[in-house]
Amino acid sequence: MSTHPEHNAAGTHCADVVLRLFEFVDDETEPLDRDRIQAHLDECSACLAEYQMDLLLKALVRRACARQSAPAELRAQILTRITGVTVVRRTDG
Ligand SMILES: [Zn+2]
Ligand SMILES: [Zn+2]
Repeated sequence: MSTHPEHNAAGTHCADVVLRLFEFVDDETEPLDRDRIQAHLDECSACLAEYQMDLLLKALVRRACARQSAPAELRAQILTRITGVTVVRRTDG
């Protein structure tokens, strides 16, 4: 059971990269961090997969936002996928 390495040659931890992917896809990452994350993505297929999923999710959100505002249900689904936290849906009504 091999997993991706804890950190790559540059010493960037996968956890750091995953946490910053949101900023990264939004172009809000500090230039220094950008380089490190980019370098890590080049070496770490696991984080690269995460990154590509985030890009996909961002595209989905954008499309939803372009129409109107992202439906609460869609946002909840996306949040659930991203954070792994199950959003409890209220059953009133
Ligand atoms: Zn990792
Ligand atoms: Zn990684």
